[in-house]
Amino acid sequence: MKAYVDQDTCIGCGLCAEICPEVFAMNDQMTADVIVEIVPAEAEDAARDASDSCPVSAISIEE
Ligand code: SF4
Repeated sequence: MKAYVDQDTCIGCGLCAEICPEVFAMNDQMTADVIVEIVPAEAEDAARDASDSCPVSAISIEE
């Protein structure tokens, strides 16, 4: 699984990094970055949760 954050859409709320810190981290521009190439199997559910919880739907998941 891969995860992507649309930098133009992200409003920097920090929710994804809170829900799934294995995959998402806030950067200096106060948007979220994906910090792994491939989402680890044990973090897949949390990554989906983060995507579902993003208030502006900035996260896309490629299964
Ligand atoms: S949850 Fe969405 S808006 Fe909030 S930091 Fe993550 S990608 Fe950005």
